[in-house]
This record gives sequence, C-alpha cells and structure tokens, in this order.
Amino acid sequence: MKITGIDWGEVSIPLRTPFKTALRTVASVEDIIVRVYTDTGDIGFGEAPPTGRITGDTTGAIVGAIRDHLAPALVSRRVDDFNDLMALVQGCVVHNSSAKAALDIALWDLFGKLRGVPVYQLLGGSRNHLVTDLTISVNSPEEMARDAQIAVDRGFDCLKVKVGVNPALDVERLAAVRAAVPSGITLRIDANQAWKPKEAVRILNGMQERGLNIEFVEQPVAADDLEGMKYVTERSCVPVLADESVFSPMDAMKILQTGAADLINIKLMKCGGIYNGLKIATLAEMYGVECMIGCMLEGRVAVNAAAHLACARSVITRIDLDGPMLCASDPVHGGSVFNEKDITLPDDQTGLGITGVDGVKRVGHVGEVEG
Ligand code: MG
Repeated sequence: MKITGIDWGEVSIPLRTPFKTALRTVASVEDIIVRVYTDTGDIGFGEAPPTGRITGDTTGAIVGAIRDHLAPALVSRRVDDFNDLMALVQGCVVHNSSAKAALDIALWDLFGKLRGVPVYQLLGGSRNHLVTDLTISVNSPEEMARDAQIAVDRGFDCLKVKVGVNPALDVERLAAVRAAVPSGITLRIDANQAWKPKEAVRILNGMQERGLNIEFVEQPVAADDLEGMKYVTERSCVPVLADESVFSPMDAMKILQTGAADLINIKLMKCGGIYNGLKIATLAEMYGVECMIGCMLEGRVAVNAAAHLACARSVITRIDLDGPMLCASDPVHGGSVFNEKDITLPDDQTGLGITGVDGVKRVGHVGEVEG
C-alpha cells in the first residue's frame, strides 16, 4: 500500500452550548481534516482541532506543518513500512503535536486496513466498550447545578466539572453540583492551571471537609510548575491528575520520576498521536500510575482514534472522551458509535473505520487526491 496523495481542509461543527473553562470560551469546533490517499483506493482519515490556548497549535500552524513538512515527507512512502513512517511523522518537524496527531491517526487507520483488523485489536486490545464522563462548563453555581442535573438525566454517571474562574467561588460551585445530583454520581474537577499551589491545597481540602467527595483534580496549577504540582499532590487529600503538564512521553517520564502527580491524562493532540500515546501508557504502567484518556473540543475522527487506544491499554482506566457528545451535529461517518455515555467500537470495521466526513472545505493538497 503506497501513499499517493494527501489533502487537508476545514470543517466547522456547532456545539450544543458554549464550552467554558478557566482558559477559554468556545461556541463551535473548528477542525482540520486530513485525508491520506493510497494506490489501493483506501483512504486514511485524520483530524486536528486548533487549540492555541492549550497546545499553541493554531489553524495556520497546523496547515503549515502539514503542507510544508508532514505531507511532502509521507507522499510516495509505503504504509507497510509503518514503524519508519511513525518515526518520520514525529521527526520531520519539531513541536506541532496536533498536526502530527492528524497524520498519525490517518496512518494507523490505513495500517489497520492493510492488516484487515480494527486498530484496537492490532494493538492487542480486547474490550470494545468504554463509558465516558461529560464536562460541565464553569459558570455560576446555579447554572452548573442545572447543567449537572441535565447531564444526569441524559444518563451520565460521571461528571468532569470545570472550575478556576474566580477561585473564591469554586467550593460553592462544587457544593451546588453535589447537592443537585444523586450521591452515586462521580465528580472529578478540572482547574485548567488556575490555582496557586497553596490555594489549591486549601480549596481541595475545603471541598473534602464539606463531604463533596471529589474523585481527582485535573491540572490544579500552571503547566510548567511541576514543583507546585508535587506540593499539591503531597498535601491534598484529593488525587492530582497531570494534563497540561504532560505533552510528550518525556514530560510523562519527569512526572513519573518525581511523583509530581497521581494520574496522567493522555490526549492525542498533546502527544502527537497514538504512537506516542502508547509510549506514555507504557511508561505509566511501569510506574504503577493509571491514566485517563482525554480529548480537546474535537470531532469524532480524532476521538474515535483515542477510543481505540483506550481499548488497547488497561492502564487507561478513566475515560474523558465527550467531544462528540458536546457537538450539536456529527459530520463523521463510520467508526465508534457514541451514544451519550456509551462508546462502542464495532469489531467488523478495519483500521479506525472512518468512511467519510461531510462538509470539508479543502484548503490544500500534495500528490494525487480525489474529487
Ligand atoms: Mg484538562
């Protein structure tokens, strides 16, 4: 199977309601879709959402990295030489983890098609069902309590509650959410770097003293403040999950070696795709640290790929793949079936199983492409 051409384009997916965190407010998912064409007629699909506030990858940066580096390096290469291609994707340009993830995903899709099995099976996975949480945006305590109630009515039994905007309100926010949902509902929180270390310990211990029963806190302090995160991990009774602090496998290694966090959040857009996601999962497994699989605000091409990785590694025990459930429509055909909290990977689809994406406005290509 030889790569004959690659194209990339933009697609816009409206959200059900605006998504609000300590870092940003967003009304729609603006995505880059990549298609890798081959001489067998198979097409590999990949995706990269621009998340400048998190990864630094803007639309222009993603398109530039694909156009100038990734696509020219890959066209006319054989998918059979898979390990070489994986190294090429990571090595042909520095940074640009989202653009790398898009090509990595498309290549795994093709490699699975070449071998005739779903990617999660190719990676040794046997489970094909996941249960995801749902994110509650940061708002007033009353609004958040109402949103949590709606999520529980939709069948979600685990909620990821965003906090960190005006931290003085955070304990009240959680108290309002906890009071609004049945006691069996799991609550995890994400501060998106908003707190100072001492403030984080005070807020978290305050939440536990009020019996709010928090499963873990995600990224309480600034991404580069590993000492601060270790301070929180050692003093808070709530487990700490590293998100923005861990992009690459080397970042994960630092956290694991220093014990700066209790858990690690793997996202394909941070680490550059499944190839590096596997490395982080393996490192975490070696240190006895469990992982969460997460996503950006992104469509189902990339989230589907993350679901395949999660099904392949039992060290990934927490699932935060609610991107498609936050969208008002789904332009993606094939792949995992998302039904509220339930994600099911069909076992009769090869590769990642994506067959098409509606409404993609092509903005560039290299080599021979269709249409
Ligand atoms: Mg997070």
